[in-house]
Amino acid sequence: MPRYDFRCRSCGSTFELNRPMAEANAPATCPDGHDDTVKLLSTVAVMGGAASASAPRASGGGGGCCGGGCCG
Ligand SMILES: [Zn+2]
Repeated sequence: MPRYDFRCRSCGSTFELNRPMAEANAPATCPDGHDDTVKLLSTVAVMGGAASASAPRASGGGGGCCGGGCCG
């Protein structure tokens, strides 16, 4: 089940909810009981195999050049 981030506009806190995609845009309620919330951009999709655009921090030991100091 995808996870969605929300932010409460009443108290300013952010929280996460696991909910089916069908309810992705359904209103959410803040843990503190406020219902004036907005859905933030999902943080899902980072764990797939298509991590390409935003340079992932090399965890060392890879074949990457400018990560381990081989070309510095
Ligand atoms: Zn709140």
